[in-house]
Amino acid sequence: MRFSKLRLNGFKSFVDPTDLLIADGLTGVVGPNGCGKSNLLEALRWVMGETRAKAMRGGGMEDVIFAGTATRSARNFAEVSLQIDNSERLAPSGFNDSDQLDIVRRITRDVGSAYKANAKDVRAKDVQMLFADASTGAHSPALVRQGQISELINAKPKARRRVLEEAAGISGLYQRRHEAELK
Ligand code: ATP
Ligand code: MG
Repeated sequence: MRFSKLRLNGFKSFVDPTDLLIADGLTGVVGPNGCGKSNLLEALRWVMGETRAKAMRGGGMEDVIFAGTATRSARNFAEVSLQIDNSERLAPSGFNDSDQLDIVRRITRDVGSAYKANAKDVRAKDVQMLFADASTGAHSPALVRQGQISELINAKPKARRRVLEEAAGISGLYQRRHEAELK
């Protein structure tokens, strides 16, 4: 599965719909402090099903919605879409019926988050599982936050183990065991 496009609409500082095309090879994002580079990475983590407000540098999940500036009013929702090239048909079953996979997450004030996969309603859990199985999930070590390296160096062994487990691609199993225990 290859990510081909990230679209942000009302997400943090990206008030107007903005497309980030992700071509083959390396994509660099450069810009002055505060222009939104980290927000892009957070959008990617968020559309993959991140549920911890702290990981989004916010107090509550609705803090990802554009909060307004002196010249523009706040928005009522935020939406992030991730377009995935699935021409090699590597997506897990249930998501693997077309060459392109579009995952959309939208959060509306006082309503909460809703997810779609190729325009069909899906649960947060389905999306989280899709990316956990592909080892690219919201908690994947493939996404390194600003400051995360020093956090990792200072982490306790248990926290460090979780990172290794993500890297080994077994965190999807933990999610399933947790669910089984709840039943
Ligand atoms: P640096 O180079 O310092 O790491 P950066 O390019 O990573 O900067 P970000 O942290 O992505 O910058 O962007 C921060 C900007 O996003 C700030 O100007 C902040 O006001 C804005 N921002 C964050 N959340 C929201 C929101 N909900 N609504 C509007 N703007 C927001
Ligand atoms: Mg940054």
